[in-house]
Amino acid sequence: MAIGRVCLVGAGPGDPELLTVKGRERLMEADVILFDRLLDGRMLEGLNAELIDVGKNAGRHKLRQEEINQLLVEKAEEGKIVVRLKGGDPYLFGRGGEEAVACRERGIPFEVVPGVTSAIAAPGLAGIPVTHRRVASALTIVTGHEEPGKESPLDWNAIARLEGTLVVLMGVSRLDENTDKLIQAGKPPQTPAAIVERGGWPDQRLVSGTLKDIAERAKREKVQSPAILVVGDVVRLAEALAPEKIAILRPAGQQEESVALAERYGFIPLSAPAIALKRRPLPADLMERIDAAECVAFTSANGVYIALEDKAISRALAAKRIVAIGPRTKKALEEHDIESETPESYSSEGLERMLKGRHKSILFLRSAQGSKYLSRGLREAGIVVDDIPLYEVVDSSDPRLDRLIEEAEKLDIFAFTSSSTARNLLSRAREMGREEKLRDALARSTVTAIGKPTAEELFRLGVAVDIIPERFTFEAMLEALARRKRASGIDPGVTKDKME
Ligand code: SAH
Repeated sequence: MAIGRVCLVGAGPGDPELLTVKGRERLMEADVILFDRLLDGRMLEGLNAELIDVGKNAGRHKLRQEEINQLLVEKAEEGKIVVRLKGGDPYLFGRGGEEAVACRERGIPFEVVPGVTSAIAAPGLAGIPVTHRRVASALTIVTGHEEPGKESPLDWNAIARLEGTLVVLMGVSRLDENTDKLIQAGKPPQTPAAIVERGGWPDQRLVSGTLKDIAERAKREKVQSPAILVVGDVVRLAEALAPEKIAILRPAGQQEESVALAERYGFIPLSAPAIALKRRPLPADLMERIDAAECVAFTSANGVYIALEDKAISRALAAKRIVAIGPRTKKALEEHDIESETPESYSSEGLERMLKGRHKSILFLRSAQGSKYLSRGLREAGIVVDDIPLYEVVDSSDPRLDRLIEEAEKLDIFAFTSSSTARNLLSRAREMGREEKLRDALARSTVTAIGKPTAEELFRLGVAVDIIPERFTFEAMLEALARRKRASGIDPGVTKDKME
């Protein structure tokens, strides 16, 4: 039988999208994948391979390194294509070298696909560039050695004398000991230091301090492995570069798109649908009412998706003038090849200005909680308004919302995309007995409302709004949030003494 082969693939620091393209290809070809416990399950979804968890597993004990080597070799000798998936880069403190040698010794065809190492990526994702032209020109990566009982193989006196940035992996359990050794060896106790816990995961944390107090702070914050210690002046850059955590409260169907967009604007998005959309039964006279209206208006992409699922509505719309309240709604219509007009300002008022004097009748296909005052304004302008509710907004009962409420103090930004998201977030917190805590978190963080009605609802609920974007889109909210950073000025104080 033909012999198989082995590929050692670096999985990156956590986020499945930080797996390399080549790594992904090798995973898709694999018959067998041996992986460790520190992996995001999404990385293994949809693969056609036998999956073997060689890390610690509930009940079962972790395989010893020799057993892993043996398993790799055996599977390959059975003719299988074997992928050994390892966190970060396989050759940095991952014992990948030992696995590679074991394959070579047995004459097994073998390949390595490097990965994004947590040693650089975890600090980077937390806002700490490991080098910076004016701050640090060298990087030292060492192991903090977590295995108790084993002596550290490192000369900490020599390490303490090195210039530049020091990154310590596997160092959580010996944080005290290691920072003490560095101080005793002459590293200034005031040297900036930080811990990055679970870098690249949605629950990533940064704890900063100095070499002297970082161990204490980490203990207080209950930092756990996997985490990285970074020591050096570059740590100060995090004041300017650390990403902020933003709560995305939109309905489940819009989460993926919103999360992707928030990441592109440099935020860490936390998904927490505060509302859900429930379809309403369509009225029997729907077609006549569409016929009777001069134009049909959509006020949300959700409304478009729900309406166009119905083939009869789709056909009836073809002959109508269509109005979309904003670019996202317009795009949803375009996906169905429907042209639409959009008002200058993406708001109820903008729509009103656009319609006034041009159309005698209009039909809204929208949510049951659509803005009543929009209809009122149009009616006052002499336009015949009809309104068909396609869906209603209800509580989401999403466990992600509950989790967010429990951890509200960790958030930097709350993004409210409708008045119902605001109402439901607060009422859910009340049900959980955490309203006061949530209100504290809201007061401390940046609150942004997509438009005026949402801001007014927040005001009514006693929540101060910091930002309303000029254009009423989710992307404009992100843009306004990013701009406010610039407005507050970036002065990390990093380079003060070194720049002169
Ligand atoms: N080969 C891996 C490192 C393996 S050693 C790599 O290149 O990243 C395991 C150590 O890596 C952990 O103890 C921790 O110090 C660090 N680590 C791994 N993933 C991490 C993450 N997402 N955030 C912070 N540290 C991480």
